[in-house]
Amino acid sequence: MQNDMDRMEELVKILNDYAYHYYVLDKPIVSDYDYDVLYDELVLLEQKLNKVLPSSPTLRVGGEVLPEFKKVEHKVRLYSLNKCNDLQSLQKFVDDVREVVKNPKFTIEYKFDGLRVIVEYKNGLLFRASTRGNGVVGEDITEQVKTIKSVPLQIEYKKDLTIAGEGIITLENLEKYNKTASEKLKNARNAVAGAMRNLDPKVTAKRNLDVVFYDIISIENSEIKTQSDVQNFLKKNKFLTGDLFETTSSIEKMQEVINKVDKEKSKLNILIDGLVFKLDDLASREELGFTAKFPKWAIAYKFAPQEMTSMLKGVEWNVGRTGKINPTGIIEPIELAGAKITRATLNNYDDIKRKKIKINSLVFVRRSNEVIPEILGLAQDFENSKEIEKPIICPCCKEKLQEIGINLFCVNPNCRDKQINKITYFASKNCMDIVGLSDKIIATLFDKNLIRKASDLYQLTPQDFEGIEGFKDKKINNILSSIEKSKNVNLNNFIDALSIDGVGEKTAKDLAKKFLDINSLKNATYEQLININDIGDIIAKNIIEYFSNKDNLDEIERLFELGVNIKKSEQKQINKDSFFYNKKFVLTGTLDNYKRQEATKLIEDRGGEVVSSVSKNTDYVICGADAGSKLDKARALKINILYEKDFIDKL
Ligand code: NAD
Repeated sequence: MQNDMDRMEELVKILNDYAYHYYVLDKPIVSDYDYDVLYDELVLLEQKLNKVLPSSPTLRVGGEVLPEFKKVEHKVRLYSLNKCNDLQSLQKFVDDVREVVKNPKFTIEYKFDGLRVIVEYKNGLLFRASTRGNGVVGEDITEQVKTIKSVPLQIEYKKDLTIAGEGIITLENLEKYNKTASEKLKNARNAVAGAMRNLDPKVTAKRNLDVVFYDIISIENSEIKTQSDVQNFLKKNKFLTGDLFETTSSIEKMQEVINKVDKEKSKLNILIDGLVFKLDDLASREELGFTAKFPKWAIAYKFAPQEMTSMLKGVEWNVGRTGKINPTGIIEPIELAGAKITRATLNNYDDIKRKKIKINSLVFVRRSNEVIPEILGLAQDFENSKEIEKPIICPCCKEKLQEIGINLFCVNPNCRDKQINKITYFASKNCMDIVGLSDKIIATLFDKNLIRKASDLYQLTPQDFEGIEGFKDKKINNILSSIEKSKNVNLNNFIDALSIDGVGEKTAKDLAKKFLDINSLKNATYEQLININDIGDIIAKNIIEYFSNKDNLDEIERLFELGVNIKKSEQKQINKDSFFYNKKFVLTGTLDNYKRQEATKLIEDRGGEVVSSVSKNTDYVICGADAGSKLDKARALKINILYEKDFIDKL
C-alpha cells in the first residue's frame, strides 16, 4: 500500500501539474472541485506528517509569470484567500478573529470567479495594470486592461493609488462571443484569463470584459479606515464595484446572506463561486497578519461546485420536435449541485467539433440550478479517446438526414419520435396547456394510430380509449375535458405551440405583441420580422418558410375548424409617440413607488423593452435607491440615467 509520504509527493506532483495548466496555460485539465479535493487531502497529510515539501502548492500563491510579458514587481505581496465551505469553518474563522479583535465587524462581498487584476493610477491617470502572478511578480497587462471600457483611464483622485479587482466577463457577453467564435470559450474564468494574458490587446477588446474592483492595495495620506470606506472611495471614483456589499457582526446574518446568494446566484449575469468575508476595520487587520499564503482577516466561503469533470462514455442522438437531431452526452455519474448527473446536453454536431470532445475523454460539465447540465468542453483526452461520429440517418425512422445550417434534421413528416415530441410540446403548459396529457399518453395514442398530428387530439372520443390499458372512465373524461378546455388560447401560446424552429416562449410573445393576430403573422415580411428585437436572419427565414408550407397552413386551418379559438388580444394599442416606445431600459436599485414587475409592465405597455444588463445598446438606466454596479456601468458607458422622479415624469 502507498504510504503517506509517497502519497504526499504524488499529490504535490499532480497538483503542480494541474496548477501549471490552470495558471500558466489558462487551460485547466480538471475542474476546480477536483483540484480542491486533492488540495485538501494534501493539507491534511501535511498536518498529519508535520512536513511540507518545498514545492508544495500550499506554500505558493498562483502560478508562474509568462516570459512573453514584461514583469511587474508588486509593491506589496499579494495573497490568496483561505477558503471554507461550511458554517462550522466560517464560525471558526470568526472566533479566531474575535480572539484578537474585540467585537469585529465583517463585510460580505461576492467572490468573483475571474482573474485578479492590479491597477495603478498616478496623477489621476491609469499608469499600469498587472496580474497577481505568483504574488511577488506579475505580468504587465496595461495595454490589455486599457481596452476594457468600464475601467476608467482617468479618475478624480490625483495621488498615487493601487487597487485590486477581478477581471470578469458577463455571461451575456460570453454567450454572444461563443455564438460566432470558431473556438468556444469553455467558461467565464478561462475566457477572462485567456483574454487578459494575451499579447494582442485586440483579443482583450473583442471579448468585452469588465473589471469589478474590491480592494485598495496602497493609497497616499488616506482617510480610509474600513472596507466600507474602500467601497465608497471606489464608487466615488467611478470604478465598477460588486452589487453585493453588506456588513455584519453576526454569524446568523452571514448564514442568511449565504443562503440567499446561493439560491439566487444562477440568475446573476456574472460567475461567482462564493462569498468573501473580510474584517471591516483596516487597522485591526494588521494585528491579525498573514500566513505564508493568505491573510488571517479574510476568508472565502465557496458554494458547492456547479462545474465538475467527468468521463464522456458515449453520445445518444435523438430527434426533437422540429426534426432537429440533438446529441446528449452520457457521462460517468457525478454528484453536482445536489443531483446525480448521468446525461448532459451537447447542442449539435458542430458544437461537438468546436468543443473538441471525444468519447472516453474527460469533459467539463456544468449545472446552474434549474438549467439542464451542459458539457462545456474538453478537459483532457487520452490514448483510447475516439472521435464522435456524425450521424447520417435519423435515430428513429432511419431516413437520411439533411444538414441545414449547423444542424442536422430529419425531414420525414411521419417520423414517429419527431411527431410525438411535437404533439407533446403542443400540449405543454406554455403552449395549449392540456393538463394531464403526458408524453407517455401521447406515445400510446400515436402507436395506436389514434393521432398523427396535433389537430387529431381535438377529434378524440371516449370510444377511442376503449381497451387501452390503464384508461378508466375518470381518466378518459379528465383528458378529454382538458383537451376541450385548451381550445381557448392566447395568441402567444398558440404561436409557441406550432413548433417553428427557433421560436420558443419569448419569441412567440414578441411575435404576438407585434402582429396581434395569426393572419398578420402568416403574411409577415422578412423586413417586419427582422426588425423585432432578438429575431435574426435565421429565425425570420424559419418563420416565413413555416407559413409558406401548405401542410402547416392546412394544420392551422384544421385546428380552427375543430374549435381552437384565439382569445381576442388584450394588448393595448401602443402609442408610438410615447417616450418609451422602441427604447431599451435597465432597472437598478429600489424604486419607492413601483415594484420591479410594475415598472417593467408600465414600460412594456408603452412599447419599451426592459433588459437585464447595461450595454452600449441600453437607452436609459432607471435608477432607484441603493443602485449598484449597473449605475456605475451606465456612467462609465455614458448612458442616460433616469431617477425615479424623471421616470414618473416620463410616464
Ligand atoms: P481563489 O480563487 O480561491 O481565491 C482568491 C482570489 O479570489 C483572489 O486572488 C481574487 O482574485 C479573488 N476574489 C474574487 N472576489 C474577491 C473579493 N470580493 N475580494 C477579494 N478577492 C476576491 O484563490 P487562488 O489562489 O486564486 O486560486 C486557488 C483556486 O484556484 C483553487 O481553490 C482552485 O479552485 C483553483 N485552481 C484550479 C485548478 C484546476 O486545475 N482547475 C488549478 C489551480 C487552482
